[in-house]
Amino acid sequence: MLKAIGKTPIQPLHRASCHCGAVVLEIHLPAGLPEPHRCDCSFCKRKGTIVAAVPAADLKVIRGQAALRKYQFGRQVAEHFFCGICGIYTHHRRSTNPNEFGFNIGCMEGVNPYDLGSVPVADGASGRNLWVSIVSENFLP
Ligand SMILES: [Zn+2]
Repeated sequence: MLKAIGKTPIQPLHRASCHCGAVVLEIHLPAGLPEPHRCDCSFCKRKGTIVAAVPAADLKVIRGQAALRKYQFGRQVAEHFFCGICGIYTHHRRSTNPNEFGFNIGCMEGVNPYDLGSVPVADGASGRNLWVSIVSENFLP
């Protein structure tokens, strides 16, 4: 768990927003930020976002539900949400675990995702879920 990104501490209830501010999320991160990663599936490789994941109950849309748009493809399991006004991806229901939401670390209040340096890439392209082992090497004690 990361307690800070750069100089920005991770808040127990950290807010995140799209670019225009229409969509605001509140993410419950009492122990810090779980493993940041990228994904190389056909969708994620195009947006290039650094994401982290939490149990679905720990992410709430507190403003702008009506502005959110949903995109699905393939098996229609994952739900990719983005702001219908500014187009920014905010969060998604994960295909590997539909009980979790991934979210855009770049949307987190006060956070510069590039302060993370290089992060592991999830193996979304092959359908296998190998990133857990990669993350373990880099982020666990
Ligand atoms: Zn927006």
